[in-house]
Amino acid sequence: MSEAVINQQPAAQRPEQSATPVVPKDAAAVILLRDDSDARDPVVFWARRSERMAFMPGFYAFPGGQRDDADAQVEVDDAADRETATMIACAARELFEELGVLAARGADSLTKGQLASVLDDLTSARMTFAELLAHYGLHLDARDFQFAGRWVTPPFSPRRFDTLFFVVKCPRKQEPRVLTPEFDTGEWTGAREAYARWRRAELMAAPPVVHALRTLAAGLADDLYERFLSVPQAHRRPLRAIEFLPGFVCFPVRTPTKPPATTTNCYVVGTRDFLVVDPGSPYEDEQAALAEFVKELISQGRCLREIVLTHQHPDHVGGVEHLRATLGGDVKVAAHRLTAEALRGGVRVERFIEDGDTIELDGDPRLRLRAMHTPGHTRGHLSFYEERAGALLTGDNIVGFGSVLIDPEEGSVRDYLSTLERYRQLPRLVALFGGHGPATGSPFAKIDEYVAHRLKRERDILAAVRAGAATPSEIVARAYADVPTKMRALAERAVLAHLLKLEEDGLVARAAGGRFAARSPGGLDAK
Ligand SMILES: [Zn+2]
Repeated sequence: MSEAVINQQPAAQRPEQSATPVVPKDAAAVILLRDDSDARDPVVFWARRSERMAFMPGFYAFPGGQRDDADAQVEVDDAADRETATMIACAARELFEELGVLAARGADSLTKGQLASVLDDLTSARMTFAELLAHYGLHLDARDFQFAGRWVTPPFSPRRFDTLFFVVKCPRKQEPRVLTPEFDTGEWTGAREAYARWRRAELMAAPPVVHALRTLAAGLADDLYERFLSVPQAHRRPLRAIEFLPGFVCFPVRTPTKPPATTTNCYVVGTRDFLVVDPGSPYEDEQAALAEFVKELISQGRCLREIVLTHQHPDHVGGVEHLRATLGGDVKVAAHRLTAEALRGGVRVERFIEDGDTIELDGDPRLRLRAMHTPGHTRGHLSFYEERAGALLTGDNIVGFGSVLIDPEEGSVRDYLSTLERYRQLPRLVALFGGHGPATGSPFAKIDEYVAHRLKRERDILAAVRAGAATPSEIVARAYADVPTKMRALAERAVLAHLLKLEEDGLVARAAGGRFAARSPGGLDAK
């Protein structure tokens, strides 16, 4: 659905609560090709984003980054206009900073030692990139930076980029190496092999990277750039359906969810037979966009098996009945029995899914999803695990950014921690697909981060109670003074969830008036 159509919505139908998506930041990225590449199977440099990165950790990516103010000062020969020159300068600078490769004319006359000192001058900010190029008699030429598309991160992400991609041939005497903590590792790879690895679900990559690999894998023929630019997303049209792994398509829909999220991830899972998981939008335009996508798949001969729900929250079920009605009414909805009970009178659930049930989806590859009953966020919460791909749909137990709300009585911290532990025990994990935000390519680091976050909260809350704070509101005031006023009520619910667990653990006791006190091993503290 285009921006224009969304904007035609009457104001009254627009979500009042949800935050507006963030404005994309200008960025540039480099598809670096090895100079001696075989034109039929070019060799490209890619790197794995660090597990510690907040944005798409564990994803394979190309070097690149945000535009710097000083990039506008760099002269670029033969550039079509100032804007293009600036973005080429950004690409060249990022390539140099991240991989040590300086794609400037004249750089071949520098010794390795000189190149290292240029890089040091740049990274230590002794000189700007423009000053350095001038100082060493180097210059950038637009003909060394072939435009290969401009992609915008879809609105579902808390960090968005408007990225120009350039194909650059690595200068003969230079060898790229990872110099930035943003990447764990980097390597030259044949484009065909890299694309095949993604197809085999061995790793995660963002859509423009997958598109570049697929394009390069067909060889460096004359129509290379036509092929790069042959998809609408390469012209800044945000992608609606994002295939992070083969058979796992994320279709984010706008929902009245909790900030900072503005969308809920609906997933279309399967390579021929498919499921629609969590069609959550209550908004007509978004429901129509999803229905159109699903109908298109059906028209290609694919088969919608059923609609599946991870849990009952409105931002996950808001579009179920619309989708069912649009498709003729006989599509079945499946969920956990407890979710069905919570939805009684609203959404009709025809089939119950229990822990350990499997859903087989024919196709190439065939997918086999194992349902896991994973309470914590809600009592009837389901997750779905596909072992071959190492993919886990986590619903709202783990999301792409921020933390998860545990709101009693539906939510339980104890159950939540057990659920995270079950996730950690899964035999193979490549990707986590959460209910909001981008997928995660470093599953175990993410699970550990969530566990550590919960345990830290628990310690903070217990310390606050021991220091005399007796109610959720007093605890929030003491331990989470930085929580914005608007979020206070939610923060208090989250604190209560922890207090209930601490009570079960025998570390705090509830007294009259909903007040809590710390317990020493011998009984109630005097406080
Ligand atoms: Zn939820």
